[in-house]
Amino acid sequence: MNKPSLMWFRQDLRLADNAAFIAAAAKGPVIALFILDDEIPGDWRWGGASRWWLHQSLQSLSTKIPIVLRRGRADQVIAEVLRETGAVALHFTRDYAPWAGALEKTIKENCEREGVACHRYGGFLLHEPESIRNGSGEPYKVYTPFSRACFASGDPRLPKPAPKFENAAHELKSDDLDLLPTKPDWAGGMREHWQPGESGAHALLSRFLDEALVDYADGRDRTDKPFTSRLSAHLHWGEISPHQIWAATRNAMARAGGALDASGEKFLKEVLWREFSYHLLNHFPQFPDHPFKPEYADFPWVNDPASLRLWQRGQTGYPIVDAGMRELWHTGIMHNRVRMVVASFLIKDLLIPWQEGERWFWDCLVDADIGANSASWQWVAGCGADASPYYRVFNPVLQGQKFDPDGEYVKRWVPELRGVARDFIHMPWDLPVPPKAYPKRMVEHGFARDRALEAFKKIKKI
Ligand SMILES: Cc1cc2nc3c(=O)[nH]c(=O)nc-3n(C[C@H](O)[C@H](O)[C@H](O)COP(=O)(O)OP(=O)(O)OC[C@H]3O[C@@H](n4cnc5c(N)ncnc54)[C@H](O)[C@@H]3O)c2cc1C
Repeated sequence: MNKPSLMWFRQDLRLADNAAFIAAAAKGPVIALFILDDEIPGDWRWGGASRWWLHQSLQSLSTKIPIVLRRGRADQVIAEVLRETGAVALHFTRDYAPWAGALEKTIKENCEREGVACHRYGGFLLHEPESIRNGSGEPYKVYTPFSRACFASGDPRLPKPAPKFENAAHELKSDDLDLLPTKPDWAGGMREHWQPGESGAHALLSRFLDEALVDYADGRDRTDKPFTSRLSAHLHWGEISPHQIWAATRNAMARAGGALDASGEKFLKEVLWREFSYHLLNHFPQFPDHPFKPEYADFPWVNDPASLRLWQRGQTGYPIVDAGMRELWHTGIMHNRVRMVVASFLIKDLLIPWQEGERWFWDCLVDADIGANSASWQWVAGCGADASPYYRVFNPVLQGQKFDPDGEYVKRWVPELRGVARDFIHMPWDLPVPPKAYPKRMVEHGFARDRALEAFKKIKKI
């Protein structure tokens, strides 16, 4: 009988189009392993909502392949499992977090010492970050030429089906990963909204391509409409690969004979924003913690835990901001447009450091992602690569009126405002009698905007 191979599942919780798993399965019996490593540097261990999703996703995967669950430092756990099982090869998908390269190097060296073959594969991204360079051989710092270079390199390879495999994990013990909230159980809204796992991801993709893609180009910014794919958490956990999404989108576009071209291209461009964020993270690993533009480190941020708490709880007195923060708390997700508005409010209206918002999102989002989250927070703050200019301060009233014109989104998440007429829904303070149950504005936006612009002008060189 062939000796087993160890398949280390990470953010690639799928069997189809998983190069590492396909290679492991081709060699003989497979031991599937997942490690909860809470000892990673920088305090970026998974937040609460991510853990909830991970629990469900592992359960879903384990209905297809028995999976050994262990806690501990990934390099040590892998060494232990290799010893316990006599596996002769290790297969895994590359991770791009700032600490992952060193960890993967240690694991490779350990394997070499023990005579175990160690194989690392791509697949989390369409393009390895090193493979896309500008004319001078440097990494891109601006999205548009980056995305042009991606398109110019042609469509990515086609996805591969799940392989047949032989399971070799029969006798191995698993740890309790203890991923679910205990008391209080805050995950009810997440259970209602999500079906983590490979089949949930594909069901969502089909629904999106059949029903929503047609409205994507013109409607993706509408916070009240279901016009985006909602695939981000599935992509983040690798339940679906970007190659599968790309190919399915191209097929849908071809079938529609031109009718989906504008929306399809726009959607693929958004998928490339994810690629761009990992391109940046890979080349500039300071992204999650430090401003890409170093002068922003001198910005006079305010230390204001009380205001931060009002923002986190959706009690700012600005309907679109509060709706977004409450949607996040309830479902683990927030519409992209609203993410920009709430982030701008925290950073520019309240002058609270972007890292505080980034951390809150890290804990609350089911798609909390070290690449996309850090790049996006820095984009809004103006300190990232290709960032929004510092003088762009989102006006929460105008944003609400434009992207939630009837107030449907606000009314869904802010019950105190359900009786308010359309004309006042984004500025209830102008009503003759504002609803008593809804909080007063914590700051007046016009004043806050001027204050922010003064403060930002003081940082040199921006
Ligand atoms: C402050 C802030 C924080 C964010 N944090 C995260 C995060 O932690 N994780 C995350 O996946 N996205 C993050 N985003 C990006 C974006 O909001 C989400 O990817 C998007 O809302 C997910 O919804 P969707 O799947 O319906 O997107 P769609 O519009 O259907 O887009 C398809 C896919 O493209 C990718 N994508 C779209 N927009 C972006 C973007 N701006 N940056 C990177 N990738 C993008 C996502 O993988 C998404 O699933 C953040 C944006 C902001 C402004």
